[in-house]
Amino acid sequence: MASIFSKIVAGEIPCYKVAETEKCFAFLDINPVAKGHVLCIPKKEVDYLFDLDEQLYGELTLFAQRVAKSIKKVCPCKKVGVAVLGLEVPHAHIHLIPLQSEGDMDFHHHVKMTEEEFKKLAADLAAAFE
Ligand code: 5GP
Repeated sequence: MASIFSKIVAGEIPCYKVAETEKCFAFLDINPVAKGHVLCIPKKEVDYLFDLDEQLYGELTLFAQRVAKSIKKVCPCKKVGVAVLGLEVPHAHIHLIPLQSEGDMDFHHHVKMTEEEFKKLAADLAAAFE
């Protein structure tokens, strides 16, 4: 069965899309720990990030770098943090989280966003993606 993230890539489940390349896809985390929390995934469904073949791992990492630069431009933050968990969704993904302080990287704390906020943020990040 396809993962939730494969269904997002296929357009079967909606998402707030931020960026896309031939092999990679980025969208807002639906339960963000900070405003600007983005997930970067390979379109190919592989459970564990570190099982990706070298080529795709490299492409995903460079894609995440580009997305992080958009986040830095759009979201007020000191730096963009990176996390790999993968305990909930078995489809490799890199969390990118704008940080004002260490405490922003807390996966037990979530921020509420309205549908309008999600839409605007995704559009702003997409426009800033280079
Ligand atoms: P992890 O697998 O890294 O432990 O956590 C999975 C992440 O994916 C969580 O931060 C969760 O909020 C996010 N997530 C789970 N399902 C969906 C979904 O259907 N849409 C979006 N946009 N994010 C999701």
